[in-house]
Amino acid sequence: MRNAAWTRLLGLALALLFGTLALAEAPALEAPEAGQAKPFGLPFAEPPGPSTWLLGQPFGNTTTAYRWRISTYAAGQGLHFGIDFSARCGTTVVAIGDGEVAKVDAVEHGAGPHNLMITHPNGYASFYGHLYERPRLAPGDQITRGQAVGLTGDPDLTCTSRPHLHLEVRDAGVYRRAFNPVGLIDADWDALSLAGPFGRGFERNLDNPRQWQFLDDQPEVAFGGALLNQYARPWPPDWSGQ
Ligand SMILES: [Zn+2]
Repeated sequence: MRNAAWTRLLGLALALLFGTLALAEAPALEAPEAGQAKPFGLPFAEPPGPSTWLLGQPFGNTTTAYRWRISTYAAGQGLHFGIDFSARCGTTVVAIGDGEVAKVDAVEHGAGPHNLMITHPNGYASFYGHLYERPRLAPGDQITRGQAVGLTGDPDLTCTSRPHLHLEVRDAGVYRRAFNPVGLIDADWDALSLAGPFGRGFERNLDNPRQWQFLDDQPEVAFGGALLNQYARPWPPDWSGQ
C-alpha cells in the first residue's frame, strides 16, 4: 500500500512538473490590447459586399452553437470555435499572415469537404474550413500574407444551402486552443457586423445576461474542456431536445 501511495505521489509530482514546463514553453498568445496592432488580415483580398463575402456566424457563444452544444460543438466547450464568412462557392481565400503549410485536408479538424492549416511564426495557426477543393499546397510550403490558398465551398456540398468559409485561429503545434479571430484580425468589425445573413445572435444566460454578448468579448476555447454554456436558464430556450 505504502509503495503504491508513493508511486501515485511521484506520478502526480511529475505530471505537475511537466505540466508546468509545457505551460512555460508555450507562447503567451495574448490578444493585443486596444490600440495595439493586430497581427493578421482578413482571409479575402476583395472588400466585403453582397457579391463577394459577408460576416456570418461569429466566434463564441452563438445561439447556433448553443443549440448544437452537445454534438457538433461539444469538443469546443459548446461554443462556435471559429468565425464564419458567407461567400458563394469558389471565392478566393487568402492567407491571413505569413507562415508555413502545416496540414492539408486533416480529417481530425473536420470542417469538410476540404481544409487547410497554416502555422505562423508568432505562435498562432490559422485554419480554413469548408473549402471547395483540396488546396494545391503541401505541408512545408511557405506562404505569404494575402497569398491565395484556396476557394470557399459549402459543408453540404450543394453551394446553395450554406456556402461559407469557417476560419479558426489556434495555437500552432498543439492546436488545443481556439482564439476569437476578432481580437487578432485587423478589420472594421463594427461595420462588418451591420450586414450578414444568419447566426448573429448570442445565447443568453439569464442568470448572467450580459456575459458574452458581443463580437469581441467571447471566451477562448480549450478543446476537450467542459461546456461553457450549459445554462440553467438559457434564452432563447433550450429547444435542441438534447
Ligand atoms: Zn463555423
